[in-house]
Amino acid sequence: MKVDYLIVGQGLAGSLLAWHLLGRGQRVLVVDPEEEVTSSKVAAGLVTPLAGNRFNIPDGLGERLDYARSFYWSAEEATKRHFFHHKRIARLFRSEDERETWKSRIAEDPEAYEKFSGPLTLDDDKIAVPYGGFEMKGGGWMDLPEFLSATRYHLLERLGYAIGRIDPDEVAIEENFVKWKNIEADGIIFAQGWQGNQNRFFDWIPIKPTVGDILDLAIPEISDVSHILNSGGWLIPKGSGTFSAGSTYRHDLDDPYGYDGGRAEVIKKVTQLTRAPFEVSSQRTGIRPVIRRSQVFMGRHPSQSRVFFFNGLGSKGVLNGPWHASRLVDHILGGVSLPDCSDIRSNFL
Ligand SMILES: Cc1cc2nc3c(=O)[nH]c(=O)nc-3n(C[C@H](O)[C@H](O)[C@H](O)COP(=O)(O)OP(=O)(O)OC[C@H]3O[C@@H](n4cnc5c(N)ncnc54)[C@H](O)[C@@H]3O)c2cc1C
Repeated sequence: MKVDYLIVGQGLAGSLLAWHLLGRGQRVLVVDPEEEVTSSKVAAGLVTPLAGNRFNIPDGLGERLDYARSFYWSAEEATKRHFFHHKRIARLFRSEDERETWKSRIAEDPEAYEKFSGPLTLDDDKIAVPYGGFEMKGGGWMDLPEFLSATRYHLLERLGYAIGRIDPDEVAIEENFVKWKNIEADGIIFAQGWQGNQNRFFDWIPIKPTVGDILDLAIPEISDVSHILNSGGWLIPKGSGTFSAGSTYRHDLDDPYGYDGGRAEVIKKVTQLTRAPFEVSSQRTGIRPVIRRSQVFMGRHPSQSRVFFFNGLGSKGVLNGPWHASRLVDHILGGVSLPDCSDIRSNFL
């Protein structure tokens, strides 16, 4: 079998690459072992344009956000499925200091902040708003399992998906193609998530996996709340008084799924957001692929020109992933330079 590109992994990263390559008329085969728990299957999928407690506007935020939203909407159109939920985010200050930081940011550049923020319109006495807050514009959350499933069907209809695990040692690099089992491809792209450096081609890239926990809850007394609540922890309304809440950040990989402190940590964050009683229905734990904060890293292998890497989506993968996938595909197909800050060769060699 001959394809243009073989993609290793169908998490968010592999899915985004597949859409962008298909959009450029390429034939792809995405191979994934369908593990029950992956970062993409567990993630909250939040798109929070002004993340962090310094409220910085990262370079290129507006362009990346606009690109992500229009990409997800066109994927929804193509699959007739709904996975990107545009929602208002109530960003509640954690302290007076945080409120003052926000005020000085706005004063420095009111025009830049206007695109991403507005006055808070939250009206529910069960929500704790001791220091005030603002409304974040342009965000929401993505139902990642739904996006992965829609993508998988889209690929299956094009004979572009297979269940399996690609062992990098079984990938042969020939002069004019790469070969894995009976598949020949022009190139191979590794999008393996946190295991992305357990790979003979990319073992020089420092991945720092971060474990995270999320709880699913019922909070009937605030079932009318339609905003995502965000203040260190977050609550996403999922309808009929149910919510997802998170999250934790742990670096200890000894027993990522057996640690029970994660639940207590998330519960503490929920009690800081609402006074209403709640009941936990389930807990999910996953491992985020983090390289350097939530910066995406990608590019071509330094000596194997048919071998590529796409990873490091971290906790902002839903927002940053689509724009970076499009840049990597421009690079692979058209030789367009990668942004220096994301290129594996300028950062890790
Ligand atoms: C608790 C938690 C909360 C999060 N919240 C958010 C959030 O609110 N917003 C946000 O943007 N992001 C969030 N994230 C991060 C988000 O999950 C990641 O940015 C993104 O999903 C990573 O996608 P990925 O494809 O790189 O990795 P993964 O989802 O891990 O996918 C990698 C895939 O590759 C497969 N694979 C690995 N090795 C092989 C191989 N040899 N052969 C074939 N396939 C292979 C794996 O099975 C997997 O399916 C969260 C993550 C966690 C854990």
